[in-house]
Amino acid sequence: MSKDIKNNDNATPAPVSNFLRAIIDNDQAAGKYTRDGLPNVITRFPPEPNGYLHIGHAKSICLNFGLARDYAGRCHLRFDDTNPEKEDQEYVDTIMDSVKWLGFDWNNKGEEHLHYASDYFDRLYEIAEYLIGAGLAYVDSQSAADMAANRGDFSKPGVNSPFRERAPAESLDLLRRMKAGEFKDGEHILRAKIDMASPNMNLRDPAIYRIRHAHHHRTGDKWCIYPMYDYTHPLSDAIENITHSICTLEFQDHRPFYDWIIERAAEGGFFKKPVPQQYEFARLNLTYVVTSKRKLRQLVEQNIVTGWDDPRMPTIVGIRRRGYTPESLQLFCERIGVTRSDGWIDYSTLEGCLREDLDPKAPRATAVLRPLKLIIDNFPEGENIACTAPIHPHHPELGNREFTIGKELWIEQEDFMEEPVKGYFRLFPGNKVRLRYGYVVECTGCDKDENGNVIAVHCNYFADSKSGTEGSANYKVKGNLHWVNAADALEAEVRLYDRLFTDANPDAGGKDFMALLNPNALEVVRAYVEPGLATITPDTRLQFERHGYFVADRVDSVLGKPVFNRVTTLKDSWAK
Ligand code: ATP
Ligand code: MG
Repeated sequence: MSKDIKNNDNATPAPVSNFLRAIIDNDQAAGKYTRDGLPNVITRFPPEPNGYLHIGHAKSICLNFGLARDYAGRCHLRFDDTNPEKEDQEYVDTIMDSVKWLGFDWNNKGEEHLHYASDYFDRLYEIAEYLIGAGLAYVDSQSAADMAANRGDFSKPGVNSPFRERAPAESLDLLRRMKAGEFKDGEHILRAKIDMASPNMNLRDPAIYRIRHAHHHRTGDKWCIYPMYDYTHPLSDAIENITHSICTLEFQDHRPFYDWIIERAAEGGFFKKPVPQQYEFARLNLTYVVTSKRKLRQLVEQNIVTGWDDPRMPTIVGIRRRGYTPESLQLFCERIGVTRSDGWIDYSTLEGCLREDLDPKAPRATAVLRPLKLIIDNFPEGENIACTAPIHPHHPELGNREFTIGKELWIEQEDFMEEPVKGYFRLFPGNKVRLRYGYVVECTGCDKDENGNVIAVHCNYFADSKSGTEGSANYKVKGNLHWVNAADALEAEVRLYDRLFTDANPDAGGKDFMALLNPNALEVVRAYVEPGLATITPDTRLQFERHGYFVADRVDSVLGKPVFNRVTTLKDSWAK
């Protein structure tokens, strides 16, 4: 069995306009970023390599790379690696992998745009020395406690540090000695000299360099001072000639410093105009999901899930293993759009995008998830008759799947009721149903164990009723059941995944998300599937008729012994 059928109908949905596209259109009309040899839209996706990417990051990736694609620009992948203690190569690798898997590439016209803030440490340091010389930065030697107390708060202006008027030459000397490793962590700090009374706390002389005697995953032990994120990020954007620097709304208050630092460095001759501009959009909040790194880590460390790539996790590696397609995530990001107001997106929107993507392209197959024996008493002993079914009902060109029907079959337990409820059309004594792609059978009764549990259902078949033959038209029945032949069915493990939380907003308003775990988020069943699935390769997606969309697990599924994950059911079972 092959991988997904290619179908690009909805792989790249037509772009819907949004406020960012309007800004770019205006900039283009005004010729704002017309520069020699550079595209006029350069965006970037700037993760910190301190964890695994999640569905919220997918929104940012699709947005940044999507704009670059649609405006014939380019998007850089940049690691904002300024916190050596928390960062690791492991995260760099998984982030690169996730971006690629989502369908994006930082290679643009043969140029690699994979960058690291740490590559700019020398330039950032040079700019820091320049700022001191220009009277725009100083080394502060207050204790951390004094610095915090003197910062003021929203209602109280800050107090100038006693070191604020230190001579530039003295600050420069101290910064060089900080760099040379003469001081311990926290002894001194380099601050921008802006305004301790600013109503914007981010402008009250923000720290721009701190001492950290820590090993960095890329620069090793070369540095013992590291630039702060708020200093590094804008300058890295400017170094890379970014045009539109798109981030989430919580950075709105950081924008004045973003502009301040780039402007000052441009005055110092470090950058040419036009310089990058920051724009904010609302982060993705998805119901039934938590995305905080701390909380995701808690789920992993407390073994609530099997790891970062557990199919119940909202990480990209988890979503991927669950069976979501990159196309469905792109469609999702396009559909939820970008706005400047916070809101919640319902989880069913994500599932809907997966169904929309897979319905036209996923091959169909049969699986009996909760098996019950069906015995056709009048079927010739030892005989197995060939049956066929289309691989996809709307793609006859894909051909058929082959399997057989015999005397003993597996059907779903729920497809038999000894005493049927009103409106039940499946198997009950005296009722006729069609076995899909096979024969019409009439139920005659069942066998039970000593506890009264049904262990086998009996029926007789009508030899002239085979699907696809002339005689089949003479049988009008309401029930149409799926089944597999016990003689050739393949046993398979099927993991029925569902939402990880029972509450739509598990971590909102101080709720304890750990108390809201869905006990039914995973049910493992021993199923019987049609024999052709013995050759299914990991990561292949399909639709099990009547059950939903599934994928052969990329970690545990092996040839001959498939393991399937349910991505989602055929219909939204959570809708009220
Ligand atoms: P941290 O708590 O470590 O800062 P983070 O989720 O902000 O975590 P980053 O690596 O800084 O992680 O994020 C990279 C980019 O992804 C940033 O530009 C950030 O704005 C964006 N991003 C993060 N979470 C979301 C979200 N829920 N929706 C949209 N974009 C997001
Ligand atoms: Mg962040």
